[in-house]
This record gives sequence, C-alpha cells and structure tokens, in this order.
Amino acid sequence: MFPSHPARALMVACVLLPGCGGTAFELPPVTDTEAVRAAQEIPTTPLPRYMRDNGFYRGAIRRIAADLERDVGPVCARAKTSLCEFHFHFVADDEANAFADEGGHIYLHRGILEYLETETQIAAVMAHEMGHQIAGHYDESKASVILGALIGGLIMGGAAVAGGTTQAQANEQAAQGMGLGGQIGRLSYSKEQEREADLLAAYLLGRSGYDMRAASKTFEVLARLDEYATSSWKDTHPAGAERMVAWRKAIAEVEASSDMLPRMVAN
Ligand SMILES: [Zn+2]
Repeated sequence: MFPSHPARALMVACVLLPGCGGTAFELPPVTDTEAVRAAQEIPTTPLPRYMRDNGFYRGAIRRIAADLERDVGPVCARAKTSLCEFHFHFVADDEANAFADEGGHIYLHRGILEYLETETQIAAVMAHEMGHQIAGHYDESKASVILGALIGGLIMGGAAVAGGTTQAQANEQAAQGMGLGGQIGRLSYSKEQEREADLLAAYLLGRSGYDMRAASKTFEVLARLDEYATSSWKDTHPAGAERMVAWRKAIAEVEASSDMLPRMVAN
C-alpha cells in the first residue's frame, strides 16, 4: 500500500506548486506520429564510446563554459532567473549522468561524456543543464520534494491514527510517509521540464555560435542511453524520441528568431 500514498502526495504537490505541470517558455509542439517515426530512426546497435583522458574533459568543459557563459546573460534576463552563475564540475567516474544542483553547480560525470564524440556534443549537455537552472527547475523540484514529504507524512500519520494504532506507531508511519514522499519528488524532472531545458539549450548554443545540427547527435545518444538499464541518466532525465523531434524544431525556431531569445508562454 505504500506506493499509492506518495504518488497521491506528488499529485497534490503538483496541483499546489507554481510551475509544476507547466512551463514558462513556449515549447515546440510534437505529435505522437512524429515521435513514433523518430523512435524508429534510433539505431539499435551498441553506442560507441570515445575514451579520452580526464585532462581532455576538464579542458573541454572549461572552454565550452567560457563560450556559453559569455552569451547567456540575455536568456537569464528573459527568464527572470535570480541566479545567472554556473560552476561546472567534472566527476571522474563511470556514472552516465549529468545534473544541475543548487547554486548553479553543474556536475558532468565522465560516464556520460564518454558517449559524446565532439565538443559540440558535450556543449549540448552542458547547455541543457544550464537550461534546467535558468528555468528554475531545481527549485521547483526541491519545493516538490519538501511538499511531497510533508504531505506524505500527513497522509501516513493520519491513516495510522484512523486505523487505531498508537501515537508512537503513527509517528513512525508518518516518518516513513515523509521519506517516501520525498523520494518520489526527487526522482526526476518532468518531461516538460526536460523539453524546456532543451529549448533553452538550443538558444544558448545558437547564441554562442555552436552548430546546433551537429549537437543533434547528443539527443540521439541520450535517447539510446534510455535503453541501458544501468544508466542513471534516465532516472533524472526522462528522454527519448520526442526530444529529438523537439530539438529539430527548436533549431528552426532559433534560426528564425530575430532576437535569439525564447518566447515566454502568454499569460
Ligand atoms: Zn535534464
């Protein structure tokens, strides 16, 4: 019975939280047909890995960070983000993941960079994580964790009392509920948040002069990483063919844009 409570708590959290279930920027529309067709184009052969020494990755991250940070200001201003500061960290382990943490800290694990052949492809992952931060997804996710934990605790505690258990047992069950609720909230960003981070990444790459078409390969790699059960990328970044289609549309949008800034959703 445990799983049903945190799930309900998360639904309640999403109803209450601003930004949860909606995006600040207009996302390119993707039809089911387009996503299915793109999924069929994804190769099923094993992903090649490009093994470089750690010094290569550290140097690449430093160069790309300088490029992207140089031109990010107007995008932060458009998003009204309170923190337009980024600190990139290379993590020399095999975990196939990258994530944005509190305070503009972005962690790039060697395990995911090895799947990327060029600096442009690496830049796409870095710009995507910057997109999460600019759009405030970390804060939304943290708020959802806290609220999910609180509501999970209330539901479990309340259910225990209603079930005739003692207060001590109720407290213990409430604590369990809080833990479960928190875990659910921390699991991943929503698909919409992923798409929003991708859209911002397209603008960031475009502004800094990266070849957005060459960066498309990154989204194919991420979609293929979804197939690997051992990859933790899919835990924090639900991905797939839909994002590949949206990326192509985002490129066209950036190229057609006169001010190179993403469009906000009209209120
Ligand atoms: Zn992501």
